[in-house]
Amino acid sequence: MQSGIAEALQSLTRRELADLFAEWGEPEYRTGQVLDWLWKKRVASIDAMSNLPAPLRERLAKQFPRAALQHAETSGAADTTRKFLLRLHDGRYVESVLIPASPALYGEKSDRHTLCVSSQVGCAYGCKFCASGLDGLTRNLDAGEIAGQVVLAEEVSGRKVNNLVFMGMGEPLANLPNLLAAIEIITSPWGLHIGARHLTISTSGLVPQIEELADHPRQIRLAISLHGATDEVRGRIMPVNRKWPLEKLFAALRYWNTRKKQKLTFEYILIAGVNDDLQQARLLARKAAALDAKVNLIPYNTVEGLDWSRPDEAHCREFRDILRKARVPTTLRLEKGHDINAACGQLRLKREATEAGK
Ligand code: SAH
Ligand code: SF4
Repeated sequence: MQSGIAEALQSLTRRELADLFAEWGEPEYRTGQVLDWLWKKRVASIDAMSNLPAPLRERLAKQFPRAALQHAETSGAADTTRKFLLRLHDGRYVESVLIPASPALYGEKSDRHTLCVSSQVGCAYGCKFCASGLDGLTRNLDAGEIAGQVVLAEEVSGRKVNNLVFMGMGEPLANLPNLLAAIEIITSPWGLHIGARHLTISTSGLVPQIEELADHPRQIRLAISLHGATDEVRGRIMPVNRKWPLEKLFAALRYWNTRKKQKLTFEYILIAGVNDDLQQARLLARKAAALDAKVNLIPYNTVEGLDWSRPDEAHCREFRDILRKARVPTTLRLEKGHDINAACGQLRLKREATEAGK
């Protein structure tokens, strides 16, 4: 439990729940029973945990009066990328996006279902191209609100999520304690039991937290939002680059590589006239090769209120081919429906504005 206030029961790790029950004088096996109800049987209320004595259910309901999240709205068709708008207990909203297996990317037989989850309401980092940062940071999500997005997506879609990317709203590494608790819930056999190798944390480049996460025992994956191969270009669109310029960032990434087995990923949005100069591609290729990293090129997705656009397809391909020629594994996603990172945060902004009568 990260804060003193009552949270949803889903926010507790196994250790936290065991400590609470020890304090309450409950037998040890109650911890397993409650976790089973929460993460395996997935009951809607504490009252439905029928093998707990009634006084314990009442005490739990009093201590944890609220649910982690509620489903508000789904957009997108069942067999394509779907976006879920989720309502938090304080009336705020976040989004998660479910991306079904893409045969084009992962082969005909792939049964990969990826969920893109949010880690904060809003974001404090203010990248110039991003909808999530437009209104600044409202608050962190707690562990139950992060892990709960998986449960809700599975419930609404009827599909099992087996791949997670922390690329929704927010900067996950600015919410590290709650992120770590959520990772424990998501990867543990008593929780959602998704292998750490199927979790990718995306960051704009918070150096101390990258170093801390590198030392974490689980083999989670890391993606870096690079979006510029020089301090000059990156600094113009990502204010975080002033605090941790490329030299510092790359020192942390070299350390990451000494601690983890999976390749790093660089995400690189292509924004016309801003970071799509072919010289950037050459420098990016050199930087990626030095770290044995992969590159995901993402043509920019329009955000309402922002004056940026994507380069044409031929230019995107030319940029990609420079990387490929340098033998850097590179993907370029041109199909629109798959641009899941795109414009995350827009649905939420609209809904909150409507409810505030703006
Ligand atoms: N804060 C983290 C994770 C959330 S953003 C980070 O920055 O990495 C997830 C990804 O979406 C980032 O790579 C981000 O740069 C990208 N993104 C933001 N706005 C976008 C847009 N309009 N079009 C395409 N990608 C965008
Ligand atoms: Fe925040 Fe990531 Fe958007 Fe930058 S790109 S404003 S760090 S969510």
